[in-house]
Amino acid sequence: MAETGEITQTSGIYKCTKCGNEITLPAGHRVPPCSKCNNTSFRLVRATR
Ligand SMILES: [Zn+2]
Repeated sequence: MAETGEITQTSGIYKCTKCGNEITLPAGHRVPPCSKCNNTSFRLVRATR
């Protein structure tokens, strides 16, 4: 689980737990709020590198 404002530990695709919107974030990046529903909680669905 990744929360808005946290720094990502893993590069990958994160999915909003509320609306299912998927965002790609590199490791070491601050997690933004969901651009669609403003939710602040994401689940890592697929790690990339
Ligand atoms: Zn959302």
